[in-house]
Amino acid sequence: MAAITINEQQLHPLIASEEMLLVDFWAPWCGDCRRIAGPYDEIADEHAGRMTVVKINVDLFPGIREREEIRRIPTLRLYRKGEVLGQIVEPPAKADIDRFLAPHLPTKQQLTDAHIHDMIIIGGGPGGYTAALYAARAGLDVLLVEQLSAGGQMALTHQIDNYPGFPEGVEGYDLAQQMRAQAERFGAKTKIATVQQALLSGDIKEISTSDGLIYAKTVVLATGATPRELGLPCEKDLLGKGIAYCAACDGMFYRDKVVAVIGGGDTAAADALLLSRITKQVIVVHRRDQLRATKIYHQPLMDAENVTFHWNNEVKELRHNDRQLTGILLRNTLTGEETEVPCDGVFVSIGRKPASQLAEGQLLLENGYIVAGETTETSLPGVYAVGDVRTKKLRQVVTAVADGAMAVHMAEEYLAGK
Ligand code: NAP
Repeated sequence: MAAITINEQQLHPLIASEEMLLVDFWAPWCGDCRRIAGPYDEIADEHAGRMTVVKINVDLFPGIREREEIRRIPTLRLYRKGEVLGQIVEPPAKADIDRFLAPHLPTKQQLTDAHIHDMIIIGGGPGGYTAALYAARAGLDVLLVEQLSAGGQMALTHQIDNYPGFPEGVEGYDLAQQMRAQAERFGAKTKIATVQQALLSGDIKEISTSDGLIYAKTVVLATGATPRELGLPCEKDLLGKGIAYCAACDGMFYRDKVVAVIGGGDTAAADALLLSRITKQVIVVHRRDQLRATKIYHQPLMDAENVTFHWNNEVKELRHNDRQLTGILLRNTLTGEETEVPCDGVFVSIGRKPASQLAEGQLLLENGYIVAGETTETSLPGVYAVGDVRTKKLRQVVTAVADGAMAVHMAEEYLAGK
């Protein structure tokens, strides 16, 4: 049973009702909203009969964001008898939604699956799902664990123009769904859960998830990377109130406003271009005197009339009132001169940090990346690292999918030698 789509007139009687009500406030352009859609339907299934699970598109009912005070989406809010019992905003994993709901509902019994898989893949980005495809086609018993939906960072990428086979480009979310469908066509299974711990040494690897223990002879770590933060005071508090890390997800909130983009790499350049089409003005702040981004971005950015640059500058402070960000204080890296720049939003586009926590203390790491070469073999037998989490020169969708194929090839050799 999927979550029910409702309109504004239906919402108010449901809020007032005796039955517990879970509402997903979402919009079609929001990448995170699309990513939680699958897990949200699963929640509707799991709790059928215990609460009503609905979703409402805030774009169709313009006043609803003000009236219900929705500041970021997706917001999942729980109501009963007209009262708000709690809410969770932009949940990073289904396990977070389960944890949020747990005090209000009978807890789900944790299951232990003693079955030993040939391969467990942790992470459902392009590297993970390519490994799942190759493993399933090779006849391996493979399970992929993903915390929210297929695609990882790719699912939040508005348009991918450099993945071969798509002359007009392809939306990251759509490509992710197709990769998952392709792997599942050959028998790969997906488990939506968060991996809390992975014991990677020994012949049988033990993976502890929010949904119980699972076991495998080989493990592919495809956990990707997450956005790097500026590390400034109040940065976390201002998330969704002026600070954002994903232009494709949050750009629409800044329509006709003034935003700053921090960084000079491909992400910053792509974000600045995307935002130049939505916002009134884009101010690019970069600590060097030129972009490091690929040349293809330079001319379109220079040509965009509403894009300006603050070269050799870094953000020293975030200015804000008690509700939201109001501007930034810049410091020139050469002269030390400080400049106040009023703006409504700041997109932090300064790169990514590898999600390698599961490997800490077990695998060799270098600057946080799991050390693995072209073969994707790590410092432990039967354990492979693919995509953005491994040491490599070029982190792209196309290199992640190549890693996924290679990991399975190496795992097959390893399993054959056992
Ligand atoms: P990146 O290439 O590492 O660039 C990060 C940028 O942020 C650099 O300009 C860096 O400045 C700046 N920076 C880092 N820390 C900072 C701080 N604390 N304060 C201010 N600035 C800071 O990261 P990315 O742009 O996210 O790209 C990551 C990978 O994804 C790359 O391989 C890229 O090619 C790929 N990517 C590709 C595409 C595409 O092809 N369409 C799109 C997005 C990303 P410095 O230059 O001074 O170090």
